[in-house]
Amino acid sequence: MLSGIGPRAELERHGIAVRLDRPGVGANLHDRYEVCVVHRMIHDYAIFKDQTLNVPGRDGKGDGLFVEWDKDRGGPYSTNGSLAAFVARSSVAGVDPDLYVMALPIDFHGYYPGYAAEAALKHDRLTLLVLKAHTQNRGGTITLVSTDPRDRPLIDFRYFEEGTDVEGKDMQGVLDGIALARRIAARLSSIIADEVIPGRNTDEQGLRDWVHNNAWGHHASCTCKIGAADDSQAVLDGDFRVRGVHGLRVVDASVFPRIPAIFVCSAVYMVSERASDVIIAQNR
Ligand SMILES: Cc1cc2nc3c(=O)[nH]c(=O)nc-3n(C[C@H](O)[C@H](O)[C@H](O)COP(=O)(O)OP(=O)(O)OC[C@H]3O[C@@H](n4cnc5c(N)ncnc54)[C@H](O)[C@@H]3O)c2cc1C
Repeated sequence: MLSGIGPRAELERHGIAVRLDRPGVGANLHDRYEVCVVHRMIHDYAIFKDQTLNVPGRDGKGDGLFVEWDKDRGGPYSTNGSLAAFVARSSVAGVDPDLYVMALPIDFHGYYPGYAAEAALKHDRLTLLVLKAHTQNRGGTITLVSTDPRDRPLIDFRYFEEGTDVEGKDMQGVLDGIALARRIAARLSSIIADEVIPGRNTDEQGLRDWVHNNAWGHHASCTCKIGAADDSQAVLDGDFRVRGVHGLRVVDASVFPRIPAIFVCSAVYMVSERASDVIIAQNR
């Protein structure tokens, strides 16, 4: 947009000369929803006793689990940290499963400054992370705050009822995921003491409000989508070229017309591989 490629009105609002009016730039922003159901266990994890669950300090010394990993690449630090994970279907799932549930032996309930250090402080937590994939909302936007490239753009996800999911399927999917996490926890009553987040003392509306206020995402994508020549919202052609200008391609998570799969990274790697093939072939 700062280079003059984007929605005309948005560019003119900032006095940017329009080189190419492409309304799809910054539109169609997708994301997913995550929430965590965090439990307090009856006992601390024995395996974490006297461990910091942190990287080595400035002195290069790590905790016992790090020493174990350093010695022969064994122990908990040789894993991805998840106790178990599976995919499931919510009541609003389409063809593919739309829920991903992951059990973590830490106190994790979202990203904020210091979240990683805090997650490792308590050794008696079991987090059941719920990710709602295949979300309906495609109403997010990215717009400019100013013409200063050092300013962050305005990223407005338009979560839940602010977006295009008029039937509320995304919210229902998240609620189904929480119900599933609670069913799992109920079967672990011999080791779980209580649910600390979101906690049981809310009614249905209270839980909706909690999801509304606490769900987050980190798979922002689709704001520069590949599409057909007659699609006014398409920005790129199938070879990642910006339609209407020469010598400019976009290759990142913004190229997808719809947010792919359950996690996005491997799809980003795949479009990157595809783009390098295309660029090499066209420049031989
Ligand atoms: C906290 C978090 C957790 C995540 N967990 C997962 C996960 O478990 N699984 C999964 O599949 N996905 C996960 N994702 C999503 C995934 O990381 C992103 O979707 C993916 O990295 C997007 O790739 P990208 O190439 O579009 O952008 P990025 O990976 O963000 O790459 C953009 C690059 O451009 C660089 N850059 C920015 N501005 C400039 C500039 N002006 N000049 C030069 N370089 C610049 C940045 O430094 C960066 O290296 C997670 C994301 C976050 C934020």
